[in-house]
Amino acid sequence: MTTSAFALLGQPAAWSEPTKPFKILDNIYYVGTKGLAAYLIVSDGKAILLDGTLAENVGPIENNIRALGFKLEDVKIILNSHAHFDHAAGIAGLKRDTGAQVMAMEQDRSALEHGRQEGDTNYGGARFPAVKVDRSLRDGDVVTLGDVKMTALLTPGHTKGCTTWTTTATNNGMARRVVFPCSITVAGNILVGNKGYPGLVEDFRKSFDRLGAMEADVVLPAHPEFGDVFERKERRDAGDKEAFVDTALLSRMVEQAKASFEKELKKARK
Ligand SMILES: [Zn+2]
Repeated sequence: MTTSAFALLGQPAAWSEPTKPFKILDNIYYVGTKGLAAYLIVSDGKAILLDGTLAENVGPIENNIRALGFKLEDVKIILNSHAHFDHAAGIAGLKRDTGAQVMAMEQDRSALEHGRQEGDTNYGGARFPAVKVDRSLRDGDVVTLGDVKMTALLTPGHTKGCTTWTTTATNNGMARRVVFPCSITVAGNILVGNKGYPGLVEDFRKSFDRLGAMEADVVLPAHPEFGDVFERKERRDAGDKEAFVDTALLSRMVEQAKASFEKELKKARK
């Protein structure tokens, strides 16, 4: 869907369509909706939640957390991929209900705390419930819960504080490098003359390079279709135990995003 059609028709129905939670790796679960990912990373009965998705998804995400056998209070930390309403609007409600600490990249903090996207877009800045950030992060900071370590890598462009999270998780007895890449699509960002985010083009290009040089065994994006998350689950359930392992996926995603970014930039500069 083009972004103008998006503005006209509203958001995709799948974004707010509940779905059952499922295990991805030994301690990583999917707790989001059909169209927007939220991941639960577990250590010894306690959990980190990555992303809140839409405000109306707070109930379905909480139901999914409970369905996995956790209490809401077991969620100790909430992280965000980036401060856009489709990934951050639910965080305020989830923080209220779990009592978790919200940790986010410093460059996205004011957007989260004002409930307002920063930078100019062709759909106007979507608003969302504001949330206080309890811990501001810098590039390379590590968030720890029990034996789980989540490393925050700044990959800006899509937003100023767009954060790629990395960790290690086991699957069938193997340690796997897991990357939760921040979004790298243009997605309505104004590429030329963006007054709210003047360094956007350079940031996008740096992030393509950084992400393109990373190695990942398992890639879990904020929009599940970019990593075929549901298709992989089907394959895994059908017997392919390593369906989530795909060492070529991240570079494929980056190449595609980079090509469409440069195409849109060329068009915008005409
Ligand atoms: Zn976004």
